[in-house]
Amino acid sequence: MKKYVRKAVLDLKAYEVNDAGYSIKLDANEGIDWYDGLNRYPDNQAVKLVKALSDVTEKKESELIVGNGSSELIELILKTFLEPQEYVVSIDPTFSMYKIFTTIYNGKYEGYKLVDNQYCDIEDFIEFISKMKAKIVILSNPNNPTGSFIEKESIEKILKGSDAIVVIDEAYIEFSSGSVIDLINEYENLIVLRTFSKAYAVAGIRLGYLAANESIVKYIKRVKSPYNLNAISQEIGLKALDSIDVVNKNIELIKEEREKVWKSLYKLGLNPIPSYANFILFQGDDKLNDYLKSFGILVREFGGDLKGYIRVTIGTREENDKVIEKIGRYYNEKCPN
Ligand code: PMP
Repeated sequence: MKKYVRKAVLDLKAYEVNDAGYSIKLDANEGIDWYDGLNRYPDNQAVKLVKALSDVTEKKESELIVGNGSSELIELILKTFLEPQEYVVSIDPTFSMYKIFTTIYNGKYEGYKLVDNQYCDIEDFIEFISKMKAKIVILSNPNNPTGSFIEKESIEKILKGSDAIVVIDEAYIEFSSGSVIDLINEYENLIVLRTFSKAYAVAGIRLGYLAANESIVKYIKRVKSPYNLNAISQEIGLKALDSIDVVNKNIELIKEEREKVWKSLYKLGLNPIPSYANFILFQGDDKLNDYLKSFGILVREFGGDLKGYIRVTIGTREENDKVIEKIGRYYNEKCPN
């Protein structure tokens, strides 16, 4: 594992917080309480939350790190492993922040083009990884914005066939199956990312977590800012885990609605990509976005190679019906038959 770690990090120690018992606490320059104990810094290791996550994921507490959204964890991974000019590779199209973060950390970035925006030739991708001498491979799986999915067997081929840190960003995994979180102790170079922003539907608290073997976790903790996850997020995160029944019900609803929306888009001839996430990418056109906006409906349009494509999130039944109705009306008005 050591061979992957940035030189600067090899000499660092993780920030240690003094958590001895006390009757008077005057060691951290905190203020006088006026709001429910929030004068205190939060638990640096988020012990309660990590314990609860350990139960849910069946991973050891020492194999988990929580962060301010999975975005923070992506940054921590780059800070731990990526030296300037080293390559991060992913698929294309994918989540745009991978490239942006890589650029911020002075790395180089290359995306491997998916066939028809959905299929990945794994053997060829493995060759691409080795040709680029990638230090880090990062894959959104399911993939944002295409909704496509790379099967677990293929991820294992990548893990076996490449000498890079392999980050599997499972932000949308709850809408699919085939997580690789159970493999973190089989592959020393595997990191799995999860978020509370999608299926758990608490994007407002900015909570994500990372699972990897203890050795990786120890190095990443060296670059983590002290107290990175605030007290309120730690508390609501626990509540979200406690509310798994509501969360699961909503996941089921979204999956049903996803089928319905996909079929409607398909019937309109808009080539929706089969989705394993809570959104669908389809071929609209340049004007559809503005048309929907005129009704106060926001969807995501893209430029570049995805010009004309629209990504629509699966919302409530009423929201989805409305969007489908407007898209249908747009195409009927455009070319009435
Ligand atoms: N990864 C992927 C693939 C995403 O789509 C997103 C959010 N759009 C994130 C990570 C970031 O999520 P978070 O809210 O946990 O920072």
